[in-house]
Amino acid sequence: MDVLEIIQTSKNLDCAIFDRHQYRLHRANKQNICSWLCIKGRSSNCLGTLKSKDGKVLHVSSHVCIPDVAATEIAKKLCTIEKRVREEEQSVSKIFPQEMGPLFNRGYDYVENIPTLPAVRAQLYRIKRKEQGTEVEPKNSQKSEIMDDDVIMEDGSSFLLADDDSGSRILFFTSTKGRGILKTGQNFFMDGTFTSCCMQFYQLYTNHADLSENEEEDTIIVPIIFKTLYSFEISRVESKFHYYGF
Ligand SMILES: [Zn+2]
Repeated sequence: MDVLEIIQTSKNLDCAIFDRHQYRLHRANKQNICSWLCIKGRSSNCLGTLKSKDGKVLHVSSHVCIPDVAATEIAKKLCTIEKRVREEEQSVSKIFPQEMGPLFNRGYDYVENIPTLPAVRAQLYRIKRKEQGTEVEPKNSQKSEIMDDDVIMEDGSSFLLADDDSGSRILFFTSTKGRGILKTGQNFFMDGTFTSCCMQFYQLYTNHADLSENEEEDTIIVPIIFKTLYSFEISRVESKFHYYGF
């Protein structure tokens, strides 16, 4: 008897895969016999059904739809990625291309349907945080965890410059380019906001630099460093800024 492959959708629903077709669960009776409907039932008017018991296929009816092989393979890969994110220490940004990468060589059907990492990142981080017991919206600085995946830049560098937990916790964020400007810049402007800030932070403080090369040129003001403060004590913050060379 054929074995039915069952994966979890992003909405945590069971999805059965058999002979390249995907099915959604319709119902299960008291004898534990599950009835499945083709997921293209509505879009392709397909009445394809499948019955299974204990993971074994009992009966399959014919389909009028054409199975979407690429979508099925991608759905299986996403399931594998979620499993690895749950079980492994490796970062999401490493696991995702390892699994999805090989599918890019299989043709246009795959390439146009493979989700980008930003499209599924939030969902994968939610899984990882749940697995690690990390709160998504921590109420205080001790429960706030900065994961490598959260701060990695396209060039592989970290957006997190410093995480100062000596007393009131302050996080400093800047890019590689921003670090360079911190050393070479001449004019800096600073401003803070209390309202446009995540709930667990007291203030977001931003340093801007003027990138214009001479006085004749128009000023080019860009943000180069962001600081988030859990609590704000001006004397200590100033001394910390001094410590970091600002
Ligand atoms: Zn079908």
